[in-house]
Amino acid sequence: MKFNRILLKLSGEALMGERQYGIDPVRLAEYAKDIKTVTDAGVEVAIVIGGGNIFRGVSGASNGMDRVQGDHMGMLATVINGLALQSALEDADIPTRLQTAIKINEVAEPFIRRKAMRHLEKGRVVIFGGGTGNPYFTTDSAAVLRAIEIEADVIIKGTRVDGIYTADPEKDSTAVKFDNISFDDVLKKGLKVMDTTAFTLSQENKLPIIVFDMNTKGNLLKVISGHNIGTQVTI
Ligand code: UDP
Repeated sequence: MKFNRILLKLSGEALMGERQYGIDPVRLAEYAKDIKTVTDAGVEVAIVIGGGNIFRGVSGASNGMDRVQGDHMGMLATVINGLALQSALEDADIPTRLQTAIKINEVAEPFIRRKAMRHLEKGRVVIFGGGTGNPYFTTDSAAVLRAIEIEADVIIKGTRVDGIYTADPEKDSTAVKFDNISFDDVLKKGLKVMDTTAFTLSQENKLPIIVFDMNTKGNLLKVISGHNIGTQVTI
């Protein structure tokens, strides 16, 4: 395997499958199967899950809601997704712990870095819910932060597109995919990989990012074993 410890970022929207809202159990089960192939290969897996399939603070604010209140709702949405993912992983016989950035002790462990690392060493998948625990951040920022904290080798962003393109491939048929690209070039070309806060944190800490299509079965294992699918962003 090319990587020993990974941080997988899944957006909330990825969990919707073909639905318009909420969680698709079939999609979750497919993800769990793919994750199992990776843990079976001895790779340590931490996951940060988004909440956009349920609630985003920004959308709340655009409808007149207090932004911080909305962000708290968004963070709780990521915990709901984390619980659903934990359940799907356990159905696939993967030992899993959910740690949250905001304390919900009856439901999940609080985030404790050393404990998270110990779980990983023991072969447990660790899901980080609740984002960073702070409003005005995203789960992409949480993903980069946690990846650095647990000393992951790479952050792997599973999306429905198979990498980073010169333009949005869903809108522009002439868009061309990059196999590799530097952090500087992403910024120079104004490409969208993550929000700026998350992207800069990754760059400053020399944490490579791989963007790939998580919806094609088997891709996750391919990426981790070093196949050149998706796009890798490096220093
Ligand atoms: N959120 C937050 N702080 C964080 C992470 C998330 O306030 O550190 C809130 C924010 O409202 C965000 C929502 O949780 O819109 C869901 O997260 P995100 O939009 O990153 O989810 P994704 O797009 O990955 O599904």
